[in-house]
Formats: sequence, structure tokens, C-alpha cells
Amino acid sequence: MYDVIIIGGGPAGITAGIYCVRAGLKTLVLEKNAIGGQIASSPLVENYPGAPEISGVELASIFEKQAEDLGVQIEYEEVLKITTGKVKKVTTDYTSYEGKVLIIATGAKYRLLGLENETNLIGNGISFCTSCDGAFFKNKDVAVVGGGNSAAVNAIYLSKICNKVYLIVRKDKMRSDSTLIKKIEETDNIEILYKSVVTKLIGNEHLTGINYQMDGEDKSLEIEGLFLSIGLDAQTELVKDKLTLSEDNYIQSEDCLTNEEGIFVAGDCRVKTLRQLTTATSDGAIAATKAINFLEDY
Ligand SMILES: Cc1cc2nc3c(=O)[nH]c(=O)nc-3n(C[C@H](O)[C@H](O)[C@H](O)COP(=O)(O)OP(=O)(O)OC[C@H]3O[C@@H](n4cnc5c(N)ncnc54)[C@H](O)[C@@H]3O)c2cc1C
Repeated sequence: MYDVIIIGGGPAGITAGIYCVRAGLKTLVLEKNAIGGQIASSPLVENYPGAPEISGVELASIFEKQAEDLGVQIEYEEVLKITTGKVKKVTTDYTSYEGKVLIIATGAKYRLLGLENETNLIGNGISFCTSCDGAFFKNKDVAVVGGGNSAAVNAIYLSKICNKVYLIVRKDKMRSDSTLIKKIEETDNIEILYKSVVTKLIGNEHLTGINYQMDGEDKSLEIEGLFLSIGLDAQTELVKDKLTLSEDNYIQSEDCLTNEEGIFVAGDCRVKTLRQLTTATSDGAIAATKAINFLEDY
């Protein structure tokens, strides 16, 4: 029987593990892919205090070593089912475990365009995060794909760094707030390409351009960066029948507490305004502290 079972070995789950094990709890992290979660696919991280200019893979391996050295047990298994109650049962693709507390840290996944070579170009021209990667495109030409608020905010953010920002919008108008649209229209170096869909990514090792269709007509652009702002999907399928989710499937929580006693949540999978390393690790610490307090009266 574990004191704490953490589902997800991203920054949130690993932080929770470190806090729990240092509080003397028997702690298990279950990770279906690789420790580090999303950050493992980032070539360079510059905004995480204490680790200037570090690759995502390197940061992830430090997370893993630190957690294991402190005594966190990490198993590479996918959690397929959880059962609630005083003792929680977790069924994986390999075996099953019992724990007094669960911390859900299953994160989120950025939506892709579904084009050839797209996953290879992530971190090599394709990005999802302007505050993470925008600085790498100083004075370059880039494009943002999307028509909502996050696309608008990203285009405005990039316009201050880049030479030119194309905003590729599928419909004939933006869905974002009118104040953001006004700001975009007033920004000289943003050009909105309405009724446009990216059809091809150009470049093998690094993105050099795109082909797109504007109102059915084939066109192309030479750009070095393509920021996808077409949505982020919460990885919460596992808990959809157990925990209260928002309309877009993120876990509702206050201070990392969920509607189920003894189940806590941390990181990108919960409703929040900013999904970053710092906010994920912050959540991990809070969820673990709540779990530690909960176990005092278990
Ligand atoms: C390319 C890229 C670059 C980024 N760059 C930066 C940056 O420079 N700075 C920054 O602050 N942020 C950056 N981010 C955002 C940052 O990586 C995320 O905010 C952070 O990783 C969220 O951490 P998390 O632990 O909540 O979730 P995740 O990182 O999504 O980790 C969740 C983990 O849970 C696992 N999991 C999910 N379901 C299951 C299951 N059923 N069973 C077992 N395991 C499961 C997943 O495999 C994953 O490893 C970047 C994101 C991407 C994609």
C-alpha cells in the first residue's frame, strides 16, 4: 500500500513526488511515456529559475534523478483505471496498485495540424509557446495559426520581438475579443490571412516555410517559426467519470483539491490561467502539501 500514488511524471508530478517523499511518505509515480512530460520535447528552456539555457531533455533527466535519489519510486506504466474510496486502486497496463491518496498530474497535449513532418519540426521551427520560444525568433518572420484569444495574444506578443507576424485564420473573422482584434489591426507588423489553411510544412531539419490555401488558392510563405495556437487538450479521460471537469475537460479544483476526498490535482490538467513549468511545479508542491495534511488524519 502506497501513501501517495502520483499519475503523471511531468514537472507537476515529479515536484509532488519530491515533496511527498521528503515528508516521509511511500510515494509512487506512474508515467506512461517519459519523465518530464511536455518539457522533454523542448530544445531550450530559458525561463525556469536556476536552470538558465537548459534543454528540456536535460531538465527532465535532472527531475528524474532528483526524485529517484530522494526515494520516489517511478514506474513506466499507463494508468487505465482508478477506483475511488478510502483506499484507491490504480490499474495500469501492467499491474495494479493501492494507495491512500492520488495526485492526478496527467498534463495536457497541444493540438497539431496533422501535417507531414510536423512532430519532427517541433522545437525546430514549430512551437506552441510564445513566452517559452518567442525570443528565439528575434527579428525573424513567423506565423501564428489560430483564430481565438490565445492566437491573438501570441501574435501581439511576437510582434514586439519578430520582424513580421502572419496570423493564419481559418474563418473569415477572428473569434477573439474585440480589444485584441483592434490591437492587432493597429500593429503594423501583423498581417492577418483570413480563410487560410496551412497545407504543407517546408524544411527537413528546420522549418523554412509553409504552403497554405487562401480561399482555395495555393500560396506560400517563407517563415522560420510557426506557432500553433489551435488549442490544448487536457489528458483527463481517465478521471472524467470521477472528477468535476470544465466544459473543455480540465479538472476543476480549488487549491489543488478536487471533488473527491483524497484525490488532488496538479499542473496543466487543471483549470488555470497559465500553463508553464513554474505553475506546474507550484501546483505539485501545493497538491503534495494538501496530501501530506490529509494523511495526518487518515
Ligand atoms: C514544446 C514545448 C515547449 C515548452 N517550453 C516551455 C518553456 O520553455 N517554459 C515553460 O515554463 N513551459 C514550457 N512548456 C510548457 C510546460 O512544458 C508545461 O506547462 C508543463 O510540462 C506542464 O507540466 P505537467 O506536469 O502539468 O504536465 P505534462 O508536462 O503534460 O506531464 C504530464 C505527464 O503525465 C503523463 N500521463 C498522462 N496520462 C497518463 C496516464 N494515464 N498514465 C501515466 N502517465 C500519464 C504524460 O505522459 C506526461 O508525461 C512547453 C511545452 C511544450 C509542449
